[in-house]
Amino acid sequence: MACDLIIHGGQVVTPEEIVRADIAVDNGKILAIGDRRYMTGARRELDVTGRHVLPGIVDPHAHLGYMNTLEAVESETRAAACGGVTCLGVYILALKEGILRQFERLKGEFEARSFVDGFWHLMVIDTLTTNEIRDCPEQIGLTSFKFNMGYKGPHADLIGITATDDGAVYKGFRMISALGAPALAACHTENIDIHLMLRDELIAQGRKDFRVWNDSRPPFVEAECMRRAIFLAKSANCPLYIPHITIGEGVDLLAEAHRDGVSVTGETCPQYLTHNNEEPAPIFLSHPACGCVNPPLRDKASNRRLWEGIERGIISCVGSDLAPATLAMKGDNIWEAPMGLGNISELLLPVMLSEGVNKGRINLEKVTEVCSANPARVFGVFPRKGNLEIGADADLVVVDMDRKVRVTPQSLHSMCDWTIYDGWEFTGWPTHTILGGNVVVENSVPLPRRTGQGRYVPRATLGA
Ligand SMILES: [Zn+2]
Repeated sequence: MACDLIIHGGQVVTPEEIVRADIAVDNGKILAIGDRRYMTGARRELDVTGRHVLPGIVDPHAHLGYMNTLEAVESETRAAACGGVTCLGVYILALKEGILRQFERLKGEFEARSFVDGFWHLMVIDTLTTNEIRDCPEQIGLTSFKFNMGYKGPHADLIGITATDDGAVYKGFRMISALGAPALAACHTENIDIHLMLRDELIAQGRKDFRVWNDSRPPFVEAECMRRAIFLAKSANCPLYIPHITIGEGVDLLAEAHRDGVSVTGETCPQYLTHNNEEPAPIFLSHPACGCVNPPLRDKASNRRLWEGIERGIISCVGSDLAPATLAMKGDNIWEAPMGLGNISELLLPVMLSEGVNKGRINLEKVTEVCSANPARVFGVFPRKGNLEIGADADLVVVDMDRKVRVTPQSLHSMCDWTIYDGWEFTGWPTHTILGGNVVVENSVPLPRRTGQGRYVPRATLGA
């Protein structure tokens, strides 16, 4: 009997090795890996000679809307798919009613419009969402919880974030610890008290340039809170995930925690590997409000140290922290701009290929480790996701390591009309994305969304 698809002629990449192999796919799963001469026929064949086949990218960090938490799901998941992403970790802001009562509606919204699969993180923002932690794994298959440590001030008021003091965080950590694996806490680590003091000073000075963002949230503000989060997680025996690490000192803190036996996973993002305040992207000079991203961009030394952290296995995940906001939404006052950068998830893999592999900083095996296998493991969707083995979901990305692509906002697929990578030439680019055995991006062009494409991925429930 013929299988659904055979991808042949490529080099297959896993965290362990690169081997010349063909892949047979049937019923959404990987059926066989080896020599096609020993495989059954296929209804469809895809010749990828000269290219590499990687497990689909698991981008563990995306925001698909601001106050309306899934508002941009369609455009942003289509863009992510074009970048080889097959599974997204989506941060969910469940305002007022909490997540449990809104879950079916949100899941329906996601599954009606998403181009990729997704597991969700709950933003713990108030007493209600704190109390929901206990029931999330069993009731909705959600096992990761994000704490905005110390968050207050304008951004927090806007969203209604209140449960952020150390007591609330410690209480949440204790509840997660009691749940057991794969439940874990994620923490936004910046000392907001110091930020708010500096903010007042800098506003009084009339500063509005993009560099003021780093000056109002300097590296020690991140380091202090990261150290405290690790300390509290250790005290509560709670596995901890630290997203978007921007500072070289973050690598040292992670290494120290690992030596100390603390379960802490560090993530950085493409923008912190490639951008800094010393050689600013032109957009930050023409539109300083675009520089509002928490934590801020740092210096060139931080870029270098974060690459080293990945290479040495201390930083083990790369996520996009995608937060699409158009130029109009960003406005012209950095102090009032919505936070975050758009057009990142689509470029996560290209950055790793072009700036990482093709510039000799890391190898291709490492890319699959930090962009697929590790995020899937940490968040409890491995071995189904982020994995190129028989029986895993047939989520794959084909890349051409020699293809050169010049990026403009128009060449990308997000709703966001600007990018920090405007004008960059990338070497190494994804050509095909395969989700659940279906080609969803062909020759770098997204195909129309098919019914059933893009599912919510529940995770292991209590005691499983
Ligand atoms: Zn984020």
